[in-house]
Amino acid sequence: MKSPKSFNANWQEEGKEEVGRKVYKITILGCGGSIGVPSIERGWEDCNPNNPKNARSRTSAYLSICEEGQPDYHVLFDVGPDFRAQALRENIKAVDSILFTHAHADHILGIDEIRSINRIMQKEIDAYGAAQTNAVIKQTFHYVFAERAINYNPDATVDDIFFRPRINLHDIEYHNEFSLENRTQVYPVKQIHGRIETTGFIIDNKIGYATDFVYLPQETIEKYKNLDLLMVSAFTTRKHSSHMKLAEVLELLEYLNPKRAVLIHMGATMDYDTLLKTLPNNIIPAYDGLKIEV
Ligand SMILES: [Zn+2]
Ligand SMILES: [Zn+2]
Repeated sequence: MKSPKSFNANWQEEGKEEVGRKVYKITILGCGGSIGVPSIERGWEDCNPNNPKNARSRTSAYLSICEEGQPDYHVLFDVGPDFRAQALRENIKAVDSILFTHAHADHILGIDEIRSINRIMQKEIDAYGAAQTNAVIKQTFHYVFAERAINYNPDATVDDIFFRPRINLHDIEYHNEFSLENRTQVYPVKQIHGRIETTGFIIDNKIGYATDFVYLPQETIEKYKNLDLLMVSAFTTRKHSSHMKLAEVLELLEYLNPKRAVLIHMGATMDYDTLLKTLPNNIIPAYDGLKIEV
């Protein structure tokens, strides 16, 4: 059995001193399933309520890309219902791009909070999602995408402009790589999540964000192979119609062979300490606020 101490040491990447290196700083904003842990309906279930790492807000992650001589570039994966609390906790003041995995409520219901980021940055924020995802976002947040009041008021102040979130939604296609301001390449892949498809993202061929799936097409599996870091959902230890269960995720990870993997989107059957003791050395369960550097 590995001790948490030696385990943490494994997570210090070699080569950090390298000059001019692109550094990816990831913060797990939330790592819970759609109802969080504890949940209104199930409480803590199999999770130890005395371990604060088991308290999980809805899954989302924040990636800062840092390069010498350039301003940091910030990417947000989904905007869940807990985004306000997560942003306050992590002191988030900037989001340059949002990547949407799908439009289930636990992944988009924080969109209204983006107003505050718009006001701080004084700009509209680019967001990327598959066409079917964007369609649901537009329907759910119809007021965000309705004809702008600004069009009718030539004297509108900046605050008037950002009285609702301003998000510039781009449709993306699976396996059609795109770039974020020529800083970073994003490769979207198709995942099957029960009745709907979700989008997984691979950043600069190094970092994967794979949440909410029960099945992955072979093409997707091949793209997720041998990454430096894979954030991957592991919702439950039990069989589920729209999520791969833990045993299957571990089997998949053995094949994908990431240097490191972090389990996200965990429900209340997934106790932190139990996982930490039993998972292979290159895999850890996330907790809200976990920071990883690649
Ligand atoms: Zn979800
Ligand atoms: Zn979902």
